[in-house]
Amino acid sequence: MPHSAGRFAPSPTGDLHVGNLRTALAAWLFSRADQSPFWLRFEDLDRNAIRSEFYESQPRDLRALGIDFDGEPVLQSERLDLYLDAVKTLTKSAETYECFCSRKEVREAAQAPNGGIATLGRYPGTCRDLTAAQRQTKIDSGRPPAIRLRGSGKSVSVIDELCGEVSGNYDDLVIVRNDGTPAYNLVVVVDDADQGVELVVRADDLLDSTPAHVGLARLLGLPVPRYAHVPLVVGADQFRLSKQEGAVTLVDRIDAGETPTEVLSFLAQSLGLIDSSQTVDTAADLLGEFDPQNLPTDQLQLPSDYLQPS
Ligand code: GLU
Repeated sequence: MPHSAGRFAPSPTGDLHVGNLRTALAAWLFSRADQSPFWLRFEDLDRNAIRSEFYESQPRDLRALGIDFDGEPVLQSERLDLYLDAVKTLTKSAETYECFCSRKEVREAAQAPNGGIATLGRYPGTCRDLTAAQRQTKIDSGRPPAIRLRGSGKSVSVIDELCGEVSGNYDDLVIVRNDGTPAYNLVVVVDDADQGVELVVRADDLLDSTPAHVGLARLLGLPVPRYAHVPLVVGADQFRLSKQEGAVTLVDRIDAGETPTEVLSFLAQSLGLIDSSQTVDTAADLLGEFDPQNLPTDQLQLPSDYLQPS
């Protein structure tokens, strides 16, 4: 029985860089090697950051490497009701509270010498237990509230299929931003459950958020998927890869004289799926050899020719 239905969930805010393509390839291989469905979901709730052309160019670049999808892409921007229902469910069971703090205030509280819990980089709890009068004063000040989850202080543990055990909690997690947009940490949980995702494969910068996702799924009574976080691709000096840094998208590589096959071969080599003398024509050629246990556990630092200013 296939049991690895998966997804790739980019934001249509730019062309996919080789790090995104590599994560997509790994996610696709996990699902397809198990003959499971694989879906594309656009994380497009941040209306100021998205640009319409990337709804076309992202799947085009993935398909050029042989990464295919089942059905039509899912757009988060068309599913707001689903997320707001989840917020209602959590609010009904008194799991949420309004938070009127600005980012600056949270940061400043964290820097205060007696910042307490905030010195750990977490929310200092300013709005957690406001009296009715305090809340009214904040409302009267005109600042719209975000909605945070009232945590239990209990740690949630997850066994990641590549990274092993990771623990954390969901205390004070923002689930609706103060502009009314449901937050990533909520929508990812709702979407994965709604789509029937059984295995979440994504880059390991999200590993630390995963216990909160699992805790949230349990609170909502939703099924919890399995997780596998793959190491990030980094640019010079271990920095997160960005388009500004160099020739890092498929189109950049093609402009530099490479074919999609060469880019795919580079990605497959970097995932330890083929050795450096081998090439591969399309993603499906990798299915026979795919063994998650052989994936590298270290971050991939790109070779210098990827990092020249484009
Ligand atoms: N949109 C996220 C990213 O591109 C992925 C989130 C996820 O896979 O849960 O890094």
